[in-house]
Amino acid sequence: MPELPEVENTRRYLIEAGLLGSSFVGADVGWLKALQTPSIEDFVLGLLGATVKQINRLGKYLLLPLHTGNATGSPTLTLHLGMTGGLLLQPASLPAHSMVRHTFKLDGSRELRFIDGRKFAKIWLVDDPKDALPPLGPDPLGEEFTAQVLSESLKHRNAPIKALLLEQSIVAGVGNLYADESLFLSGIHPSRPAAELSVEEVRKLTDAIKSALATALNAYDKSRAELWPDPPMGLQTWSIPRKEKARCPRCGGLISGMRVRSRGTFFCSHCQR
Ligand SMILES: [Zn+2]
Repeated sequence: MPELPEVENTRRYLIEAGLLGSSFVGADVGWLKALQTPSIEDFVLGLLGATVKQINRLGKYLLLPLHTGNATGSPTLTLHLGMTGGLLLQPASLPAHSMVRHTFKLDGSRELRFIDGRKFAKIWLVDDPKDALPPLGPDPLGEEFTAQVLSESLKHRNAPIKALLLEQSIVAGVGNLYADESLFLSGIHPSRPAAELSVEEVRKLTDAIKSALATALNAYDKSRAELWPDPPMGLQTWSIPRKEKARCPRCGGLISGMRVRSRGTFFCSHCQR
């Protein structure tokens, strides 16, 4: 599932590929349930002639504020990549990947192609994305995400720390894989009640989240991005093996697996306490 680094790397790719300033000449939404708002008619009308002013990210959402040239508003095309989604900016003449679900036609005979094999992606065209999206906590790449802020969000919560790291209202953009990675790097057991973490542990966890994300961002390479969906846009090698009974790279013990909020979770019971 695309998490913050994959979405951020997609954003960088779209900028480098030249999406800024492009204008929409048509849209083909291939799976209507993906469109959250407005109606398909208003969506297509709203996009026609609009140009991409910026390419931003909020947690795992891509935000494309548009310039429409009319005084009534400048909507933002908002995209969530879902479980397996991704975007490619390609010449219309290039054959499209079989999993392309939605196609945004652009000037210059190019297309912004939205791959979504499992149909979990979501699309909005709204004046203010914050009205449409669920509440989001601080972005872990931003200065607003500090150990103190994280500690404040965790202090009265007895849920397992892993479950809380998946809540987008606590930290925006961290999902299952980077949560496991960060807990392994900081030596914290995924089942620990969040409120029991010491100040030092929350500090280590904050650093580990930032460092796991930074490693994935550094792995970005535009030539690889153009080959998406194979390879993926983020980390492909994890410090914590994502397999039960694999060897822990730190202590040589066996990696354990369990489910936290129905998500597959891997940890080392010796290194993570
Ligand atoms: Zn270990």
